[in-house]
Amino acid sequence: MNNLTAKFKEFKSFIEEKGNKKYMIGAVAATAVVAVLSVFTLNTSYSLEIDGNVVGQVASKSVVTEAMNEAQEAAEAAYGLDVVAVYNTVEVKAVHNIAKDTLTEEEVAAVINEQVDWVAAGATLNVNNGEYKFTVATVEDGQAVLDMLKEGALANQGDATIKSVEFLEDVTLESGNVKIGDVQTPAEIVATVQAGKEAIKTHTVAKGESFWTVAKNHGVTVSELQKLNPDVNPDRLKIGQVLNLTWLEPLINVVVVKEVTVEESIAYATEYKETANLYRGETQVVKKGTNGKKMVTYEVKETSGAVVEKTTLNEIVISEPVSAVVNKGTKAVALSSRSGDGILNWPMSGKITSPYGTRSSGFHSGIDIGGKIGRGVYSAAGGKVVLASWYYAYGNCILIDHGNGMKTRYAHLSAYKVKVGDTVERGQLIGLCGNTGRSTGPHLHFEVIVNGSTKNPINYLK
Ligand SMILES: [Zn+2]
Repeated sequence: MNNLTAKFKEFKSFIEEKGNKKYMIGAVAATAVVAVLSVFTLNTSYSLEIDGNVVGQVASKSVVTEAMNEAQEAAEAAYGLDVVAVYNTVEVKAVHNIAKDTLTEEEVAAVINEQVDWVAAGATLNVNNGEYKFTVATVEDGQAVLDMLKEGALANQGDATIKSVEFLEDVTLESGNVKIGDVQTPAEIVATVQAGKEAIKTHTVAKGESFWTVAKNHGVTVSELQKLNPDVNPDRLKIGQVLNLTWLEPLINVVVVKEVTVEESIAYATEYKETANLYRGETQVVKKGTNGKKMVTYEVKETSGAVVEKTTLNEIVISEPVSAVVNKGTKAVALSSRSGDGILNWPMSGKITSPYGTRSSGFHSGIDIGGKIGRGVYSAAGGKVVLASWYYAYGNCILIDHGNGMKTRYAHLSAYKVKVGDTVERGQLIGLCGNTGRSTGPHLHFEVIVNGSTKNPINYLK
């Protein structure tokens, strides 16, 4: 018998056994007072105290006993549990005073209903030795909570073979007396457990990890991880860098160990073959590459859905990758030229609106190709960008060095797509047609410069 039950029994026996005797003493005392001060009417009544606080007076102890039984029946009906004791201290003390209003049985029952916690035989679910405690009506209800948490962790596991399902925390379930008011249904407890607590977690970046793998291994999306780490550049993770992984952690974590087999691709390699048939910076795909396929079996350990460990158990190659073969040009751009040599690509589509050479306004050092603002301008050959900025009357201007003493210039641009120092390939988008600098309308002014002197671009263009 526990203390609470004992207290209740004590209380009942106090009323049942000692009530009459006290009443007799009270009656004797009252008689004595009446004899001395006959103007007063004195009675014995009883003071009802709950946890030391006086609730009021009752005419007899049986009023409290009856009210107690009534309240107990109401509690048993409301919770569906057999009440075994009261949690509170309920006392009835005899007092001798002038007659005053006493509480009715209904009034006492209402007070007891409001102020007394009933105790019933139930069970307690204890997490990490008291870190969290949940009260259930039965051990079966407690087991139902644990089963629901495990079932939740096993939902959506697909074809995985489950090896084990356990709790990360030390979870115990013990039967014993519990306060009726604390009893929760399994569904209520599961909701509380899953709503969780705020946990500060971090991850220190190790060699070979990317933003993507960190996100995947902790069960968050890349955008969620980015939100948690707004100052981190996902493309420039450093070894030893600490990433924030704060999220709501459940009060009880389910640890699942499973085996999963997934199809993965094997990236193909690219073999480059040098050829003098192509200009420097030009490439030509001879054979496309094909990714291979493999079936990989992993043992995965998850805590509350986040991968905490992943080990490769087995790999079966289904198909080997096939390497790509790409020709890479080595031919230098020629310096001497004949008309239509075709060693330079046209830098922009459009008609020549002003040719190279002498014109009324003076010597024209290039050709003008008519175009609209925003039309793509492309590198005439492979090379290195040596200028990409405003250049006097040329406006926004790009100069590309093709080596061997040859350069090409692109003037009056509206935008740049490359910067100084960039290596460009033949035909690469470098800027957009515009009307900047000394220009009378949108066009591209294009120059070919060989060993420092401009040449007629027509002789070099395809
Ligand atoms: Zn021009």
